Amino acid sequence: MHRRLFITGAIASAAAVAVSRIGFAAQESGAVKGKFPPIDKTRAQWQQILAAKPYQVMFEEATEKPWSSPLNDEKRDGTYVCAACFLPLFESSAKFDSGTGWPSFFQSIEGNTATKTDWKLLLPRTEYHCARCGGHQGHVFDDGPPPTGKRWCNNGVALQFVPRGEDLPALRT
Ligand SMILES: [Zn+2]
Repeated sequence: MHRRLFITGAIASAAAVAVSRIGFAAQESGAVKGKFPPIDKTRAQWQQILAAKPYQVMFEEATEKPWSSPLNDEKRDGTYVCAACFLPLFESSAKFDSGTGWPSFFQSIEGNTATKTDWKLLLPRTEYHCARCGGHQGHVFDDGPPPTGKRWCNNGVALQFVPRGEDLPALRT
């Protein structure tokens, strides 16, 4: 009985911490976090909406050529949103120069990406995608800088940059 009470209490306080964190972060950026309206489009529909390159990367898991994205050199403050459904995925404050030729971040916006294990190169890698539309974004590795030690290695063509001060695009429905 005591143990059960303790566990319930622990869950409640963890939830309270999570809520207060989300509240703080949302206030900071105004970005959509975690909970968002669902989207249900077929690949054929995405193919009609998106240009060929983003479609191939996001819905056929192609990888763009390194050094090909202008977002490698993007240094302004702002938000990186999913190029398909416009869900915010990264803040510029988490971007760093990884030297790999792909835009890289040490942290994604919590709750807005989801991961799966990818065996394409025989050794397992962690693939991640937009949690809303499922569009592939990149892979996350454990060789990133502090404070997280993570390197979210993103295809630039799968993101759109919105400079601070400009309105984020409405989520695509
Ligand atoms: Zn998306």
